[in-house]
Amino acid sequence: MPPTLLVQVHTEEEFDWQAPFDRKATATTSVPQLPRLQAVFDAHGTAATWAVDWPVVEHPGMAEGLATWVRDGRAEVGAHLHPWVNPPFVEEVNRTNSFAGNLPPELEREKLGRLVAQIEARIGVAPRTYVAGRYGVGPNTLRALVELGFRIDGSATPPFDFRAEGGPDFSRFPVSPYRYDGVPELLGLPVTGGYLGLLRSLGRVLMPLIDAPLAKRLGVEAILSRLAVLERVRLSPEGFSLAEMQALTRRFHADGERVFTLSLHSTSILPGGSPYCATESDVVELLGRLDRYLGWFRGEFQGRIQSHLSFADTLAEIEGGARPWASGRADSTGAGQAQFEARADVGRKSAQIPPELPGQTPRERQA
Ligand SMILES: [Zn+2]
Repeated sequence: MPPTLLVQVHTEEEFDWQAPFDRKATATTSVPQLPRLQAVFDAHGTAATWAVDWPVVEHPGMAEGLATWVRDGRAEVGAHLHPWVNPPFVEEVNRTNSFAGNLPPELEREKLGRLVAQIEARIGVAPRTYVAGRYGVGPNTLRALVELGFRIDGSATPPFDFRAEGGPDFSRFPVSPYRYDGVPELLGLPVTGGYLGLLRSLGRVLMPLIDAPLAKRLGVEAILSRLAVLERVRLSPEGFSLAEMQALTRRFHADGERVFTLSLHSTSILPGGSPYCATESDVVELLGRLDRYLGWFRGEFQGRIQSHLSFADTLAEIEGGARPWASGRADSTGAGQAQFEARADVGRKSAQIPPELPGQTPRERQA
């Protein structure tokens, strides 16, 4: 199977990432800028999944632009839930509740349902891919997703651990596509992320120490990263260089991974819209980095770029058909081998979500 790249965009309002969450922080000034990002995708035949949240769906330009891109086969629509700006507004606004997976099940379901209905009404397409805001999936999320017709959950971001903020822990999550235990309807497509550096094989063990409050204050992670000892990298042009993105991709490929997901935020296309781009030249550099990575992936790296739903279709076809590889034997053709490997990728991985649930613990009281 050739290396396959999927792209997801957290498409959302601008807000101060350091400030307390605020229901009134719903500016969508970045929306008119988004064709710049789509132009980069277009240049590489990339049908990215724009996972939109409530405030951006309300923006007429967003709904119109995205509807056109989807109609032309240049994009897919996903759903991105920021519960603090997504009705119904009944919960207390705080850090714990910023992870939708921490909400009471009926409230998470209701917010998601309203978002789905709003996307269908304004864009004319039902979202089938979910990307939780703040990666905040929880124990009840999967049931709601299945009920609402989702096929893909793209929320997981291994090896990051958000327990200190009351969020989920993805430090032990698979980096390959997976099916959730007991939820065969949903395909899990995690954002690609992992460790680089001399001690990368110890990342899972060392990272809790590096994440400890004292080590954080001392900037231990940045020091180790500069020394090429241990670095935690997400496949994203946000905060990571082209070289880091390529190194992560090559490393995972050498380890047998064939499916990669790149992720970024729509607000990074606006100077000051996200923490990643303060100026127009930062935006230009980010777009350039993305452009070069996509070009490299398709060119020198000999990969292909696929949309989330077409990738899910490919897998469903492989999993559903009675084929030689279903008995564990790959056939001798290249295509058969590719499909066998794809099936193995999914078959051997499964995940419970999240492995360790937030809630009923001291960190619940932090918010
Ligand atoms: Zn978000």
